[in-house]
Amino acid sequence: MQEKVFIRDKSRFEKKLHSVKQLGPSGLHVVTDFDRTLTRASINGRTHSTFSLLWDYLSPESYERAQKLFGKYYPIERSLTIPQLEKEQSMIEWWQHAIDNLVASGLTREMLEDVISSDKLVLRDGAEDFFASLEQNQIPLLILSSGIGDIINYSVQLRKDTNQGIHVLSNFFDYDELGKVSGYSSDVIHSFSKRQKLFQDDRYWGQVENRENVLILGDTLGDADMVDNDDYDTVLRIGYLNENIEQQKDPFSEAFDVLILGDVGMDYINGLMGEIGC
Ligand SMILES: [Mg+2]
Repeated sequence: MQEKVFIRDKSRFEKKLHSVKQLGPSGLHVVTDFDRTLTRASINGRTHSTFSLLWDYLSPESYERAQKLFGKYYPIERSLTIPQLEKEQSMIEWWQHAIDNLVASGLTREMLEDVISSDKLVLRDGAEDFFASLEQNQIPLLILSSGIGDIINYSVQLRKDTNQGIHVLSNFFDYDELGKVSGYSSDVIHSFSKRQKLFQDDRYWGQVENRENVLILGDTLGDADMVDNDDYDTVLRIGYLNENIEQQKDPFSEAFDVLILGDVGMDYINGLMGEIGC
C-alpha cells in the first residue's frame, strides 16, 4: 500500500523530478540518513536507533543515565525555537556524555554484533527493494549517520560485499585490547554536523563525480542539509515525518520536497525510483 505523502510546493517538486528523470539512474546518487529513515522510527512504543538498541546491554546505572540524557537532549534536538548554535553545542555535549556512558558501562564489540545477529535492528518495509534497485542500477549510496557506524556496517555488510557502491560515514568506536569500547575513533558526527563534504574517501568521490543529481533521505531538519544545493544540478529531498506530524509539518515541508507521513514503509520511494528509470 502506498504511504501518505505531503508535497507543499508541487511545482518545485515536479521541476526537480523532471530534471532527475532526464538524466536517469546514471546521473543519480543517494545520500541517506540511517536511524529512523532506513530503519523503523519506533518499535513497541520505544524509539528505535543504533544508540537506543544498546540500552538493553547497559548496566542499570548506565541505562538510567542514557534515559536521562535522552530526556534532556532529545527535546533540544527537535526544538524549533532554540537557536541553532545552542542546539549544536548541546548535541556535542550529548554525544560526549553518551560515549562516556557506554565506556563506563563496559560495552563490548560482541554486544554490538549481537544487536545485528539477533535481528533487533528493524529496517523499514521495502528497504530490501530499495537496496536491490540501487545495486541493479549501479547508483552509489552514502549512508551518513550520527548514530553508530559499527552497527550500521554490520547491518549492511552482506550488501557491501556485493555492492561496491555502498559507503558509510558515521561514528565508529575505538576498542581496547579486551574488545571493550574505549571511545570514538574520530570527530563526532552529531545531528547537525552531517555533511557529505566531510567524507574523505577517493573511491566514493570517484563514483559520484559525474552524477549531477542527488536524492536525499532523512527524518530530521539537519538531514536536509547533508548536501548543498550549489554542489549539484538537482537535490531532491524526501523526509520521513515520523511523529508530531501537525506540529512539524511547516518547517519540514520547507526543508524537504516530499514528506512521507508517519512511521511507514518505502513504497513511495521505491515507486519514485521506478519513475526515475530504475
Ligand atoms: Mg534519523
